[in-house]
Amino acid sequence: MKRFAILGHPVSHSLSPLMHSTAFQALGLDYTYEAIDVEPEDLKETLGRLREEGYAGLNVTLPHKQEMIKHLDELEKDAEIIGAVNTVVIEQGKMVGLNTDMTGFSEWLLPHQSRLEGAAVLLLGAGGSARAVLAALMLRNKPAQVTVLNRTLENAEQLVASFRDLQPSIRLSAESLFDDTVQQFVGEASVIINTTSVGMKPYADASPLEEVAFDKKQMVMDLIYVPPETKLIETAAKAGATALSGVEMFLNQGAASFRRWTGKTMPLDLVRKAVLEKLQGD
Ligand code: NDP
Repeated sequence: MKRFAILGHPVSHSLSPLMHSTAFQALGLDYTYEAIDVEPEDLKETLGRLREEGYAGLNVTLPHKQEMIKHLDELEKDAEIIGAVNTVVIEQGKMVGLNTDMTGFSEWLLPHQSRLEGAAVLLLGAGGSARAVLAALMLRNKPAQVTVLNRTLENAEQLVASFRDLQPSIRLSAESLFDDTVQQFVGEASVIINTTSVGMKPYADASPLEEVAFDKKQMVMDLIYVPPETKLIETAAKAGATALSGVEMFLNQGAASFRRWTGKTMPLDLVRKAVLEKLQGD
């Protein structure tokens, strides 16, 4: 028997236990996966306990993704670039941190990858997931430019400054999300990616781009997966744009963690069905 868990605060809403338990069961693995609510000040002590109890792997979510780095024995390259960890592999008591959000995003994007070549990308948000998305775009795709739009301009500026050297040929700029010229930025972009939490349940009637018009040639991706169809996605789809919900990224980042822990492929169709049923029932 192997034990896995997701650590977060709050964490009861997480669909990772459903995702991994469904996959373990389908593959006949005698493994368990639970959600553990951990307050920031209890992270170190909790990790010590889980290590002693022989846990084999962890997922880490808000607010611990960055803090987790301090408690690891080893940090993999992607996680180091992003500056955040969402997955931990524990082998013989040694904790190795990685970030599968980047892989999850890239795999979600795979069928649409050609749309990124030379594209003008608008990235909404400058938090942890924006770092994973920007790293993936810069290292694995070739957009001509990425404009980061964020509520707190300073955070967007810091993000852009810390990623600029990663791929100097890609033009990066930072702007305020509340700028009067937001419609202009949207109009100039062919790919728009929301990494803010605006529109997430229980605020599902909000959108990070209120009263903005989309074009049918555009592709709009929303990382939010609760609800599976956000107001942003709904508005973009109505305008005829390609509108993609974050459910696929969620599944793909989970599948990447699963691969690392078990060496096996997650039965994605089965897990997708269970996750969508749960999301649609909520
Ligand atoms: P962070 O807390 O690190 O970042 C939140 C971002 O949202 C910041 O840019 C913040 O701006 C912005 N923001 C928050 N509230 C508002 C508001 N009221 N108005 C405008 N902007 C706001 O969160 P994460 O990056 O980790 O997660 C963001 C979203 O992405 C969540 O909904 C999460 O569920 C989703 N996600 C989905 C994944 C998937 O697999 N599909 C994976 C990871 C995340 P500021 O800098 O001003 O605070």
